[in-house]
Amino acid sequence: MRKSLVCPKCEGRKIWHVEAARTPAMTAGYKSPSDIGVAVRGSTWRGFRAVGGYETFTCARCGFTEWYAHGLGDLRDDPEQGVHLIDNEPDAGLR
Ligand SMILES: [Zn+2]
Repeated sequence: MRKSLVCPKCEGRKIWHVEAARTPAMTAGYKSPSDIGVAVRGSTWRGFRAVGGYETFTCARCGFTEWYAHGLGDLRDDPEQGVHLIDNEPDAGLR
């Protein structure tokens, strides 16, 4: 849909493009919306921050939505936070 600008479910041609998916702040004291991160990094003591983010394309007719992650270069393998890089490339064992 991002490339074709046509909904693959209903063939609608009006598409909402949201550059950064956000949520209203859920913590008291934060008044601006927060980007929805691909993952979070940090600790209870230092605080957590979003890593990466999403842009979305939503069909105005049926609501079908595609999400695309960006900022993936900032992700780190972090099993404690449930973040795992699964490297299934053919030469993965040679590195
Ligand atoms: Zn649609």
